[in-house]
Amino acid sequence: MGIIIRAWQKSDLTSIRNITWQSWISAYSSFIPESDLKSYFDIHYTEVALHHMLDDPFMYGFIGEMDGHIAGYARLFFNQGENRLYIPSFYFLPEFQGQGIGTMLMESVEAFAIKKGAPELWIGVMLKNKKALNLYRKVGFLFVREEPFTMGKTTVSHLIGYKKLGKNTFLNEKSYAIYDERRSLPELYIELLSNQKKDWHELREGYESLKHTRERALSCRGFNVRLQYNPRRIKSSMAEVDKKNMTERQCFLCLDHLPQSQQGILYRNDYLILCNPMPVFSAHFTISHLDHRHQEIDESIDTFLALMEELGPSWMVLYNGPRCGASAPDHLHFQTAPSGQMPIEKEIQEEKRLTLMTQVDGGGLYHAKKLGREVILLEGDDPSIVGSAFKGFLNGLKMVLHIDEEPMVNVIGLYQENKWRLVFFLRRKHRPNAFFKEGDERMVVSPGVIDMGGLLITPVERDFNRLDTLAVESIYREVSLEGEVVKKVIDTMG
Ligand SMILES: [Zn+2]
Repeated sequence: MGIIIRAWQKSDLTSIRNITWQSWISAYSSFIPESDLKSYFDIHYTEVALHHMLDDPFMYGFIGEMDGHIAGYARLFFNQGENRLYIPSFYFLPEFQGQGIGTMLMESVEAFAIKKGAPELWIGVMLKNKKALNLYRKVGFLFVREEPFTMGKTTVSHLIGYKKLGKNTFLNEKSYAIYDERRSLPELYIELLSNQKKDWHELREGYESLKHTRERALSCRGFNVRLQYNPRRIKSSMAEVDKKNMTERQCFLCLDHLPQSQQGILYRNDYLILCNPMPVFSAHFTISHLDHRHQEIDESIDTFLALMEELGPSWMVLYNGPRCGASAPDHLHFQTAPSGQMPIEKEIQEEKRLTLMTQVDGGGLYHAKKLGREVILLEGDDPSIVGSAFKGFLNGLKMVLHIDEEPMVNVIGLYQENKWRLVFFLRRKHRPNAFFKEGDERMVVSPGVIDMGGLLITPVERDFNRLDTLAVESIYREVSLEGEVVKKVIDTMG
């Protein structure tokens, strides 16, 4: 008999209720307690509520049948205020999932939407519902907003996405290549960069102006820094990263807002590797998640560590926390660049600076001294152990600081001698007070991971000329966590 897609009718009500409940249990119960699902279900999916849905002239429903059994349904809603067509429900019984019926139902929904003259179709999905997220991405949805969603007493993260109807998908348009391990990542990197320089004027200019940056070396007490005068970086140094600006701006990492000529390498089905149009290094990439989801390291550390190994020792992977340097704190991303360009990379290899705090397989967790800022080195030969030790340290830091959100941290990932090395900087604040001063006193330094690594970016020439060792030492001290706090965390780890 095969698959049939048809309009819903009143006699489907019991099936619709049952499918909704069964698919919630299967998709959500690992992150939302059943009691919360139940209380939400009992309010929104009563027989009466469903009758209203079926009678609503702006609501449309489709049933997917397989071999005579009702397998799933989709509900469409036209929001007049927003002039948008949404899919508020798209559910299947677990035993019918993965058999192609979901894709067919989606095709019918799309054909209907096109007939209605809708230019786009919108959908929401729980961030942790990986299966549904993958299906929606596969058929061309792009998730561009993240919102909290409450069911009973539990609030989870919810992504809102859309697709353009009857057009090429965003991902197809923006994929230069797919990384599938047949070619090494560095090889693809270099190819992407040289092609993007040809096709994308702004990128070419960015690298052209990098040739005209100036550098100056400073010997501080116990460590070295280099200042880079790089006027093109003014935009990222001055970026307003507060909540209000974040919600009002167009996200520059979301695929639908990328410059027309920009393309990237699809990495692990989750990330797009892009060339950074405001480079600090001779090859500078942004590894941007496909979804517009908040910047955080805890759940993405596995990807970070995998990327380190796949890139090898000639490259480094960088992370800026959402409150200490990320220019898009609402869109998960890393950076990568060739290694050996920041003073800290050499300094951290000097054993005399390192005090072992805890043993880790094939390495350890070290507190680094005489660097003018709080630096931790974590190294090991097993990425899963390094990953959990890193998370353990961040959890310890959260406890000591009495905070729920991610502690302020910048991370450099170096893969050397078959070891994963994470160098991380513990922060107290993002920008020094001098950043907020007026007139002559103002200093445009906005330390992120590169600055903390000893390469201080100064987009204003006056700052480049006047920053001296004392000023740099004082900036580092001001933005770093107090040594006392770090000691407490280390104690909790022991
Ligand atoms: Zn975004």
